[in-house]
Amino acid sequence: MANKDYYEILGVSRDASQEDIKKAYRKLARQYHPDMNPNDPKAEARFKEINEAYEVLGDPEKRAKYDQFGQAGPEGGFDFGRGGFGGFDPFGNISDIFDMFFGGEPRATARARWGPQPGQDLEYEMEMTLEEVATGVERTIDITRMDTCNTCRGSGTAPGTEPVTCPVCRGRGQVGETRTTPFGHFTSLSTCPRCGGEGKVIETPCPTCHGRGRVEGRHRITVKVPPGVDTGTRVRIAGAGHAGTRGGPPGDLYVRINVMPHPVFTRSGNDITCEVPIHFWQACLGDEIEVPTLDGTTRLRVPEGTQSGTSFRLKGKGLASVRGFGRGDQYVKVRIVTPTRLSARERELLKELAGIQGSLVQENKGFFRKMKDAWERRAQ
Ligand SMILES: [Zn+2]
Ligand SMILES: [Zn+2]
Repeated sequence: MANKDYYEILGVSRDASQEDIKKAYRKLARQYHPDMNPNDPKAEARFKEINEAYEVLGDPEKRAKYDQFGQAGPEGGFDFGRGGFGGFDPFGNISDIFDMFFGGEPRATARARWGPQPGQDLEYEMEMTLEEVATGVERTIDITRMDTCNTCRGSGTAPGTEPVTCPVCRGRGQVGETRTTPFGHFTSLSTCPRCGGEGKVIETPCPTCHGRGRVEGRHRITVKVPPGVDTGTRVRIAGAGHAGTRGGPPGDLYVRINVMPHPVFTRSGNDITCEVPIHFWQACLGDEIEVPTLDGTTRLRVPEGTQSGTSFRLKGKGLASVRGFGRGDQYVKVRIVTPTRLSARERELLKELAGIQGSLVQENKGFFRKMKDAWERRAQ
């Protein structure tokens, strides 16, 4: 602390007026106030630092001494804190700080949190096959969640007892921590360690849940997943999450879908694609082939002279839309397989065919000429 530059912390110059220092402090204090930054230890640390700086620079007398002794200050020399705060009541001081921030009115920002708290949501990951996505599924899952304790009905107190006001923070939920430095006593706010900010504590906890108001329970739940879902789709089951505390509503259960990769089909939205190998003579002569679909197989007519890579559309054989209307298509992409092992007879026939197909090479002359032209252009 001894090496902190309070001017730098408040972002003001050394000759800033008291008014400017006050303004800078209010702005920063609002920005980093713990109520504005819940569960952010960095903001909290900054908030403390800002307060510390303002305790000194905000007081012309302390500021003058700070200026005189520089950043380091005298080692344990001065103590003018008492003069500043007199009979120091940390809580009185907290309310002063709050009054200053919020114009005295909404002390509510500092109000303790005791009361009904909603239960947290619960997430469950569910794997599905593409076939299941096509039809939708109903599946039972086992989950572990926090349930309302039956002994205390969620209050956390032993039967016949009541929670009491926290003796540490006197029910405020926050405490002021005072530190003594060469420049005085400094106070910063933090969540009450005894009640965790709730303002009340349970002195005789429920023997079943030990004061938590909830107990762990296992449940078997039936989940209905509609057709057409995709990886990342979340199915919400309202109220099936963790129980709330002290009468708060339960959270929801989210079943997060993870669609497993399919060995045959790839998916694009509601459309699916598969690749089917065909013999080159099937491609030449045309044929009717059997192709897989998500609900069995179907016949597909491949016309004469089909080129490798051609896609055929099977209308409506894709996935149902998760919105409940419309359906995707299936695309069948054919891949022509060149035979690798020929019988003597096949080779003979193909050679004969190649002789007849000399005309094909003639047709391709244009292609070779283009290649030649390109080479010549490059050589120039
Ligand atoms: Zn407390
Ligand atoms: Zn209980």
